[in-house]
Amino acid sequence: MCIPTTTARHRALRRFSRRRLLGALGGAGAGLLLAACSGGEDEPGVTVDVPGDDDPAEEPMAEAAAQAEGADDEAQSAAEEESPGLEAEPLIWVEPREVQQGAAFIVASDAPGAGFASVAFGGQILSMQREGSRFYAILGIDALAPVGPIPLIISIADGAGDPAVQRETLIAVRDSEWQTEVVQLDEENRSLLDPNVTRQDTETRGPFLRSRSSDRFWHDIFDPPAAGVITSGYGLLRSYNYRPPSEYHAGVDFAGAVGDTIVAPSGGVVLWGGQTQRRGNGLIVDHGAGVTSGYYHLSDFAVTPGQVVQPGQFLARMGATGLATGPHLHWEIVVQGVTVNPVQWIRTLGFPSPTQEFDPLDALPARLEIPG
Ligand SMILES: [Zn+2]
Repeated sequence: MCIPTTTARHRALRRFSRRRLLGALGGAGAGLLLAACSGGEDEPGVTVDVPGDDDPAEEPMAEAAAQAEGADDEAQSAAEEESPGLEAEPLIWVEPREVQQGAAFIVASDAPGAGFASVAFGGQILSMQREGSRFYAILGIDALAPVGPIPLIISIADGAGDPAVQRETLIAVRDSEWQTEVVQLDEENRSLLDPNVTRQDTETRGPFLRSRSSDRFWHDIFDPPAAGVITSGYGLLRSYNYRPPSEYHAGVDFAGAVGDTIVAPSGGVVLWGGQTQRRGNGLIVDHGAGVTSGYYHLSDFAVTPGQVVQPGQFLARMGATGLATGPHLHWEIVVQGVTVNPVQWIRTLGFPSPTQEFDPLDALPARLEIPG
């Protein structure tokens, strides 16, 4: 992980508004993390934990940020104009700027001469992935994220690790107007709604949901991992036996029969293979650059953690293990820890491609714009 030097950290703090940073971090401890450090390209995609309320490190950092607040606006403007150490003024895009609940979006910058870039959004600060002079991060909006604006701050450091440019903008989260789906459960399945069963599932899979690979194994849209039709969409509010909805559907369901083939929708490395009471037999594949996928209710699987898989490679067989009313594949996509709609990843329209060509006219302006 990249640790900012004391000097770089202080310079970054001087150029930052504590209020704005707190906004981008969703009210968590401010910090610094703004990581102006060189050599970030060695470990792109690193997540930097934001100190929590009980973190003793938070107070001094918050104080330092508060002391710096007086002069920060002026310093920020100066930094934008000077762009020290960069070969050209970087162009920064956020695409799209209006994001539906449950969708992924991309932050990208063409920044020749830059050594490091990070993005602060929704309580996280992430190192942006680097490929040539392009930096990018794929981010996700939770299905139940509040509708409205969310601040996003991009910081770019020059080759020496000194802060060069910062831009801030607002992402407008749009209502996806999820429908409610009634699911009839028999007694055995109903017992799997027990909070302890859910907790066991979360605790077992939780450590494996985040991408760990700095290599990006995906290059184009994903292929569907199963041949059947999608019988239940992402985001549906689930009402079990006509009770008020207690959760939303975190993936898509492909219909099929026990034993049907499930293949890798894209390249990756197997992160986890195991079992929980709730999701039955499952697999998690790390596609790199912040993206993982999950496969559940399997009858069995044919790959092991650490194994590299190619697009189309046989992964597993469909089943009905765990909480399932019949054989199907429950497929999930997780972006930086946020479970998003997998359908966006198998369609050209809206696919968050890191190598796409952006229009310079669509680049973020230096000044904050409020989306309508
Ligand atoms: Zn499902």
